[in-house]
Amino acid sequence: MAIYGKQKAIATNPAKANRTVNFSVEGRSTRGFSNNYIKARLKSAISNGNIWPAFQPIVSIDSGHLAGFEILARWTASGGRNIPPDHFIPLLEKHNLIDDLTKALIRSSCAQARDWPGTFFIAFNISPCQLLHEEMPDWLMAEEVRAGFPLNRLQIEVTEGSLHSQEETAYATLRKLDSLGVKVSIDDFGTGYSSLARLEAFPFRKLKIDARFVRGLDRDAGKRRIAAAIIGLGQSLGITVVAEGVESEKEASILSDLGCPLGQGWLFGAGVPAHEAREMVDGLGTPHTDTPPLLDASPFQQLHQLRSLYQQSPAGLCFLDVNLRHVRVNDLFAKMLGASSFQITGKTIDEVLSDPTLDQLREILNAALKNDHTPTQEVVIAERDYQVFVQKVVDVGGDVIGLSLVTVDVTEQKHIIRKLHLSDAHFRHLAEVSPTIAWAARPDGTVDYISPLATDIEGEAMQKRIDRWYSKMHTDDLARVRAEWLAWLPSVRPFSTTFRMAQTGGNYLLMRSRAHPQLDENGAVIRWNGMISPLIVDEGA
Ligand code: C2E
Ligand code: CA
Ligand code: CA
Repeated sequence: MAIYGKQKAIATNPAKANRTVNFSVEGRSTRGFSNNYIKARLKSAISNGNIWPAFQPIVSIDSGHLAGFEILARWTASGGRNIPPDHFIPLLEKHNLIDDLTKALIRSSCAQARDWPGTFFIAFNISPCQLLHEEMPDWLMAEEVRAGFPLNRLQIEVTEGSLHSQEETAYATLRKLDSLGVKVSIDDFGTGYSSLARLEAFPFRKLKIDARFVRGLDRDAGKRRIAAAIIGLGQSLGITVVAEGVESEKEASILSDLGCPLGQGWLFGAGVPAHEAREMVDGLGTPHTDTPPLLDASPFQQLHQLRSLYQQSPAGLCFLDVNLRHVRVNDLFAKMLGASSFQITGKTIDEVLSDPTLDQLREILNAALKNDHTPTQEVVIAERDYQVFVQKVVDVGGDVIGLSLVTVDVTEQKHIIRKLHLSDAHFRHLAEVSPTIAWAARPDGTVDYISPLATDIEGEAMQKRIDRWYSKMHTDDLARVRAEWLAWLPSVRPFSTTFRMAQTGGNYLLMRSRAHPQLDENGAVIRWNGMISPLIVDEGA
């Protein structure tokens, strides 16, 4: 059996306490030895220091700083052989020697740790039977004072099972310890009976998640959920949570994501003798308090915060599970589907949408479940336009748990854009049917300027524009107007004529062109400034 094996149910679980144990002491089976002999061996193992305190560090998962040590009893028997605590603790309990062990461990560990720097705590495991003696807090305090270690840095760990029999006496002992400033932790949380009732019955200061929910939680969503629930429970109740049996970085990182403040396990260090623990104090450094500041990040608080964020969001928000069921929607999202959030919650998209939207959305969502990034999509629901952003949601272990949807109603924007397109076309049309064009000519009558139209090609050379204008004039009118114009020039008086101008689509618009001579001080023409406009301005014609 491994030294650190976790077959410790005997010491902590009353259901198994009566089982016949075939253990060995100093390499020999205890069977066949008299009780007196065994008791004497155990007694001397305690008094001569063969049973000694191993310090296992408990650290801040995020920073790695040392928070404290749990003291684990180690029995080094003759020949250097290690006897696991699961084997000798039940014996000590049976022979009424367990208090002697606790006292010896306190004496030895606290006297050594007293002068180490920092404010780390030291936690001792207390057997169920020890809680049934009312005077226990008194001798605990006496030992502590004698060892010179501050009481407020002393903690004790009790298992849920230990509170099973003679509950009232046990709670009375715990209350007394608490009033003395000794922090009481609930050990192996989640493995005993009616854990929640225990939390209500006594103000535990610390809650230790049993290693069975920690080891391998990176690979097991079930363990992850339980760990998350216990961490949340601790946060809600303001109890510091310690994860036991942390062996890998992956486990630690997930626990950190879940908000677990403290960790214990081989990843951070196994139980070691005092001199090695002393080195850990220097190496890991201690935070200012034995526990990180307890921010209220409880699920309770988070829920309320999220709920208000959800409701006040200017966008529609929805969380769908992997079966495309609406787990949570805000009012705006529900409104998009023409319902209340109450009506939608719990229903699949098939139950609340119909084709073609359903088909389109199902395709988008299924793609999003497979891909990490999904482009923004446009969906039309009840004649309104929505932009839909879909994001796959994974839990801290990387398992897909659903989809997050954000919808923005873009109907108004689209309307404006459509209107802009329309008005642009309208303007172009108007410009064509009712153009007003400025033109100018040299004294000899040569037209050298025509103002551009909205429909004109941008950056077109002047001569090209002028030529294009001539080409738009009805051929019958072109020669006549030219003749009239040239004949008029010598009069040096305002000129006016009409002509037909071609439109796209083959119609002709009747235009009037007028020009005024611009004279110098001698009365000679410098330029002719002209204006062409439709003769009849009637859009409907
Ligand atoms: P516990 O209080 O749950 O202590 C944690 C056990 O898990 C220890 O086993 C520890 O060595 C082991 N452990 C710590 N980190 C890891 C890890 O990362 N992986 C694995 N697999 N195991 C880890 P240990 O030392 O064999 O102690 C077993 C049990 O014996 C303890 O369980 C505790 O209930 C009891 N015990 C130990 N010392 C005392 C004591 O002084 N008094 C009493 N009453 N019980 C004690
Ligand atoms: Ca413990
Ligand atoms: Ca434990």
